[in-house]
Amino acid sequence: MSFSEAAAFIRSHGRFLLTSHVNPDGDAIGAAMGIQWALTRLGKESHIVLDGKPPEIFAFLEGYGQVKSFAESSSLAPFTAAIFADSPTIERVGSAFRLLAPGAAILNVDHHISNENFGQVNLIPVELSSSAEVVYRLIRELGLTPDRACAECLYTGIIIDTGRFRFSNTSPDTFRVAADLVEAGARPDRISEALYERNTFHTVQALGKFIESLETHFGGKVAVGGFGAEFISSDFYKKVETEGFVNHALAIKGVEVAAFLREVDKGKTRASLRARADFDVNALASVFGGGGHAKAAGCTIPAPLAEAKARLLEEIGKRMR
Ligand code: 5GP
Ligand code: MN
Repeated sequence: MSFSEAAAFIRSHGRFLLTSHVNPDGDAIGAAMGIQWALTRLGKESHIVLDGKPPEIFAFLEGYGQVKSFAESSSLAPFTAAIFADSPTIERVGSAFRLLAPGAAILNVDHHISNENFGQVNLIPVELSSSAEVVYRLIRELGLTPDRACAECLYTGIIIDTGRFRFSNTSPDTFRVAADLVEAGARPDRISEALYERNTFHTVQALGKFIESLETHFGGKVAVGGFGAEFISSDFYKKVETEGFVNHALAIKGVEVAAFLREVDKGKTRASLRARADFDVNALASVFGGGGHAKAAGCTIPAPLAEAKARLLEEIGKRMR
């Protein structure tokens, strides 16, 4: 795993598919856009294609119009080279995968411990806070210095994945990179406002609903709540952004494991998992075919909400001290 190999991969191709995981967060978007900025600087052609419609919340990033859904991109000629950002498995990019030519070369840029090393070149420094931090180092390796637009994409990725420099993945180097990005023009106030102080009314109401749904188990060490299929399929829910909800459950005194469940289809429940101290939610998620990091992970449980909750609690119970 080396930055110079990743840089060589970039130099040796001319046209790239850039993609990231389904339901992209700020790190997925920021990292992909940061790579695109570098490719453009190097005179390369690239297209960012995501599984679904790019989330509205990141529209404040300059150049966000370049980020397309698969539905808007299906006419693009197949790609012989691709860069995957922040995606732990090849399947997690969803439909964008269909744009790859058979035998396409993949550069896999990520920081998830559960990454499956599916690329020809795999750049997965798991000690780094975010894929955006990996991309910053890659950009420097390529001999480039981010401008403001690029710096704001990377800064966004870092603050999303570190929870605004609060989580244990925040290292001295994370602050050094953030300082470089602010020096390059990133505006922390503008980015924080756009991400955290522009919630829709629907999001705030839904947060209330999530908080009301919370239950605690195992003597208050586990908090779990969520939404059923009816609410998730409503028009109201279309204006809801649930990023960060699960952290409200983890913020309860005494809670060591928190789960936010969403029944995204009848009989299919997504789980966002968070942990403190010595509980490993990456291991928990992997029981259900998911993954992520030790302290933040996710999975899909093939069951309706109530049954998914019961199955999850059972697995948590096996792992509690
Ligand atoms: P979130 O709860 O914010 O959706 O995800 C937390 C972390 O777990 C993120 O790093 C995310 O990429 C990862 N993650 C979430 N769901 C899945 C999943 O189904 N599979 C894998 N491999 N990782 C996931
Ligand atoms: Mn990430």
